[in-house]
Amino acid sequence: TARQEIDLKHYIRHIPDFPKPGILFYDISTLMRNPDAWQMAMGRLARQVAPFKPDILAAVESRGFLTAAPLADRLGCGMLMLRKRGKLPGKTVSHTYDLEYGSDTLEIQHDAVQPGQRVVIMDDLLATGGTLAASATLLQKAGADVVAASVLVELTGLGGRARLGDIPVTTLLSYD
Ligand code: AMP
Repeated sequence: TARQEIDLKHYIRHIPDFPKPGILFYDISTLMRNPDAWQMAMGRLARQVAPFKPDILAAVESRGFLTAAPLADRLGCGMLMLRKRGKLPGKTVSHTYDLEYGSDTLEIQHDAVQPGQRVVIMDDLLATGGTLAASATLLQKAGADVVAASVLVELTGLGGRARLGDIPVTTLLSYD
C-alpha cells in the first residue's frame, strides 16, 4: 500500500555529492540497520520476485549480494555472484561494457548457470540501466533464461528500464 511505500522511503538516506559532485547517493544502509524496515522490505521483495519462479538469483556486486542472499533463502532457490574482474576463482565467463568514461568488466563462474535456468537479477538500485543490461547480456551468454530484474530503488527519470528490453524490472521504491 501507499502507507508502506512512504514508510520504507523514510529509511533510505540521501547523500549529496557522493561518490562525486552532482550525484545524489541513495543509501540503503539506513534501511538495513532497522530490523522492522529491513524485514518489511525483504518480505515485499520476495512477493515481487516469487511470481517469476526463479531457479537462481544473480546478485550484482556488491549491494545486490545484500538482497539476493535473504531472498534466495526465503524463496528456496539458489544464488550466484556477478563480480568485478578478477574476484572469482576458477574458470569464468566475462562481459566488458562501456561506461560514461571508459569501461568495466563483469564475471561469473563458467558453470554458474545451467542452460535454460530461470534467473532473476538482483541489485540495490536502477539508474541508467547499464549495470543490469550488462548483467543480463553476460547471463544470456552463459545460456541463462533471464526472466526478470529486481531492485529496491529505481530512479525513473534516467529511463534505465528501457535498456533491459523485454526483461521486466520490479521495483520497491521509485523516485522521479
Ligand atoms: P546504472 O548502471 O547506471 O543503472 O547504475 C546502477 C549501479 O550503480 C547499481 O549497482 C547501484 O548500486 C549504483 N548506483 C548508481 N547510481 C546510484 C545512486 N544514485 N545511489 C546509489 N547507488 C547508485
